[in-house]
Amino acid sequence: MNLKLQQQIESDKLNNHQYSQGYLTEIFSGIQGEGHWIGQRQIFIRLTGCDLRCQWCDSPDSLSIRINDKARLEQTPGQRDFEFCDSPLSLEKVTSTLLNLEKLLTHHSVAITGGEPLLQVTFLKKLIQTLKNKFGFKPEFFLETGGHRYREMAQIIDEISFISFDLKLPSSTMERSLWEEHKNFIQVVAKKKGYAKATLTGETSNEDIETACRLLKENLDCFDLVIQPVALIPDKAQFSIPTPQQMLNWQSIAINILGRNRVQVIPQAHKYMGQL
Ligand code: SF4
Repeated sequence: MNLKLQQQIESDKLNNHQYSQGYLTEIFSGIQGEGHWIGQRQIFIRLTGCDLRCQWCDSPDSLSIRINDKARLEQTPGQRDFEFCDSPLSLEKVTSTLLNLEKLLTHHSVAITGGEPLLQVTFLKKLIQTLKNKFGFKPEFFLETGGHRYREMAQIIDEISFISFDLKLPSSTMERSLWEEHKNFIQVVAKKKGYAKATLTGETSNEDIETACRLLKENLDCFDLVIQPVALIPDKAQFSIPTPQQMLNWQSIAINILGRNRVQVIPQAHKYMGQL
């Protein structure tokens, strides 16, 4: 089966599943290691399933739904005392796990990540509304997304406080170009707080960085650009880590387009700290 067909089946499977259940990989309390909210304590909820295949993906276990998948759910914040449950999980199970972690420790926010979490937008919407309306859940919701599922983003935009969306550079991901999807996505999130993120390999092209920056400059004033050097992934030799000189050059290109305050280089801090 070719990859495109496989991804379509993946997406259909997720769209057709019971909305009172969610396909999850894990829930745990951890330290945010990327972007503007780096260092904040968050509850992470990682959903399973993604319709992209970035070559440097560091969540391979969250890409596809498999029969007999288990989700791991932390019981005490930071203790890694996981309970293993069959996935998909019921709305009630996910709700009670989040409520329990927040009861034991006050968190800055809930980071919804994946995979591509927007593939399960109906489940997510129900989950957030249940937590807020039925249980008075206080932490706000922070969404990490590939930045291409704009229709689904529009369905949940009112429930999300902060957004980190990717600008997928084809010379970095080795995937097809998503510029049109990103442009539509930007229109949807324009009034929210957040940042755009581009992950760079040693093979990233100047042209892709320029295109990403122009897209931001022309369509989205309030989101800064975070550029992130790809982290080394053992056994993945098809891409290289950017050199210090490359990062300096790419930041200069981005500053020349976006201005002095809008471009930060932030590596993935959780990897240096040995965090999940
Ligand atoms: S969008 Fe995210 S989860 Fe999907 S392949 Fe790319 S890095 Fe992995």
